[in-house]
Amino acid sequence: MLSPGSTIGILGGGQLGRMLAVAAAQLGYKVHVYAPDAESVAAEVTAHHTQAAWDDEPRLAGFAAVCDIVTFEFENVPVDTVRFLSGHVAVHPGGKPLEIAQDRLTEKSFVADLGGRTAPFAAVPTRAALDSALAAIGTPAILKTVRMGYDGKGQARIAAPADADAAWEAIGGQPAILEGFVAFDHEFSVIMVRGIDGETRFWDSSANVHEGGILAVSSLPPPSIVLDQQPAARAMMAAIGDALGYVGVLTGEFFATDAGPVFNEMAPRVHNSGHWTIEGAVTSQFENHIRAVAGLPLGDTAVPLLPVTMHNLIGAQIEKIPALLADGAAHVHHYGKTEVRDGRKLGHVTWVGASPR
Ligand code: AMP
Repeated sequence: MLSPGSTIGILGGGQLGRMLAVAAAQLGYKVHVYAPDAESVAAEVTAHHTQAAWDDEPRLAGFAAVCDIVTFEFENVPVDTVRFLSGHVAVHPGGKPLEIAQDRLTEKSFVADLGGRTAPFAAVPTRAALDSALAAIGTPAILKTVRMGYDGKGQARIAAPADADAAWEAIGGQPAILEGFVAFDHEFSVIMVRGIDGETRFWDSSANVHEGGILAVSSLPPPSIVLDQQPAARAMMAAIGDALGYVGVLTGEFFATDAGPVFNEMAPRVHNSGHWTIEGAVTSQFENHIRAVAGLPLGDTAVPLLPVTMHNLIGAQIEKIPALLADGAAHVHHYGKTEVRDGRKLGHVTWVGASPR
């Protein structure tokens, strides 16, 4: 059990790190952010910050020396960085979950091997392989880069085989995965926290609506099909957590289909679809992640009051904040980012026990 006053290192300097740092401070911990970027909205709320490259071993060693444990808020931290740090300090949830989540082929194969249902998929290492993958999987389908895809980036839809050239070009001709298009009723996430002792808890699943591949809204209660499929999806996540000896918050994204829940992807970290837990659950995903990695008992994940709705503030939507502040029931979060760009997540707002106005 990490004693108050200890230092938790966070790899990555975005809004997830910022909200983790606030939760860590509440429990009496100091936080040291390590990130290569010039702007770090996480480091703005912590006393300690290292701005250095992911492969700068002397700086990483210096960071490890002043941290009691290390975690991460960004799933594209290079696995080698985590491996290097693990030689100096405990890193939770560790390099293995990161390695799996960074590669869509490894991720889907891993989950399928554990008995989970995924979309039909095939490896597409080359343009020629795309034709055989299309013959095997059929259309409609989605071509996704194997690595570095997030928020709908690095993806192209294929309605008919004639779209293959355009899709291959759209993703930059990189190693890819072809997935059969899943006809889903709703998208939902399962957010789980697993403690150092293996205790596992779940938050209620929200229904998630994406716009242009980016999460727009998470809401509870979800439609009944999601509630019906939540137990099977949770069992799948628990199996993943046990197989990895996972410590911390782990998120799974699912499609609710007529045939049951279909696993889409996982994030080895706190997740945008769990931001509502800050005000909507007894213990937030951020606090429970800190509790888990610090070896503390986990907090209650219950949801005292429904409905709960979270809206992301993306790009110019951040300008809605003055109007949202006039709504006394809206919990407004501004991430403090200076540059407003289309598609950039700049804040979010949550309503608990009240509908969005
Ligand atoms: P991803 O980056 O895998 O989370 O994909 C972004 C979004 O694209 C998902 O949230 C879905 O809305 C959609 N999507 C991704 N994969 C599929 C699929 N195999 N079938 C249908 N829709 C998908």
